[in-house]
Amino acid sequence: MKLLVTGGAGFIGSAVVRLAVRQGFEVVNLDALTYAACLDNVADVAGDPAYAFEHADIRDRAALDRILARHRPDAVMHLAAESHVDRSIDGPGAFIDTNVTGTYTLLQAVRQYWEAAGRPEGFRFHHVSTDEVYGSLGPSGFFTEETPYAPNSPYSASKAASDHLVRAWHETYGLPVVMTNCSNNYGPYHFPEKLVPVVILRALAGAPIPVYGTGENVRDWLYVEDHADALLTVLRRGTLGRSYNIGGENEARNIDLVRRICAILDDLRPASAPHDRLITFVADRPGHDLRYAIDPGRIRTELGWRPSVTLDEGLRRTVRWYLDNPAWWQALQNRAGVGQRLGISGSA
Ligand code: NAD
Repeated sequence: MKLLVTGGAGFIGSAVVRLAVRQGFEVVNLDALTYAACLDNVADVAGDPAYAFEHADIRDRAALDRILARHRPDAVMHLAAESHVDRSIDGPGAFIDTNVTGTYTLLQAVRQYWEAAGRPEGFRFHHVSTDEVYGSLGPSGFFTEETPYAPNSPYSASKAASDHLVRAWHETYGLPVVMTNCSNNYGPYHFPEKLVPVVILRALAGAPIPVYGTGENVRDWLYVEDHADALLTVLRRGTLGRSYNIGGENEARNIDLVRRICAILDDLRPASAPHDRLITFVADRPGHDLRYAIDPGRIRTELGWRPSVTLDEGLRRTVRWYLDNPAWWQALQNRAGVGQRLGISGSA
């Protein structure tokens, strides 16, 4: 199967690309290479004859038409997006452009390609989204696929809009789609602005580790390679027109997650005093959702998928990866604008 992945130079997209090539897919990686991208993320597969890269923007219809005609994929997995909640608060415009207009442009290009090819049986458009579209939970309960949408940040609102477009292209035009909404990912190649790498890198530098508010916000954490595996499972076997929630069943308060990472660092890279002494509470993010938690019942019962890694094991692997790969994160930290940002995200 030939799979076109959008956003395959980002954090999750690159995990999909690496796994899909290992699983025998031919993969075309389409990416605009924004500040969040890094082609080193796919260096493992760059020389593989089953892998091709296309530098293109999902808002560029002519480029999409050319790439679809050149590669003739059997499926498209759409991950390209502006993804950082804090950046969406500072500058929402880019999120509307890429996540809404970009998804619309891609849907139209893919629809035309699929119709012109005679609506081939087995074609799939897989839209990758977030649990943040459901808004915030109280102290109990879980998001299911039936939970009403109630996005609270410009990022989640733009992803909710893109989810609705994808659903509408299925209902109106019959485009064969599957959709997934996933909880917070963490793991190797996570951009240095996001919460887990910020904690690791600040701790290694002996710098204050910023935690929003009092750190009470709860997130469900999933190891990125488990997410990639879930995505390829849904792509292959998901029911058309359905959405699947993907989660790790690993709820943690931000403060507890930060302390766990500090404890792993104490073990793997002991400092003169425990790393959690660096924790510093900072003013809360506006509109900060209290709790996200996923009920993964559908993907588990219909498709038999479960995460393979516990939160402690995944965090340990992640910390080890950052310790072993300083050249990767130092290069990204030196990018314009990245070093200056506070660089914490309560969401991912
Ligand atoms: P990321 O920011 O690490 O990567 C996004 C990639 O998309 C980058 O390589 C970037 O260059 C590319 N891109 C951005 N705008 C583009 C455009 N206009 N045209 C082409 N490429 C463009 O993001 P991520 O964390 O890997 O997230 C990937 C997807 O998964 C997103 O759709 C996100 O909403 C979703 N998601 C993320 C999480 C999470 O925890 N990170 C959780 C659930 C869902």
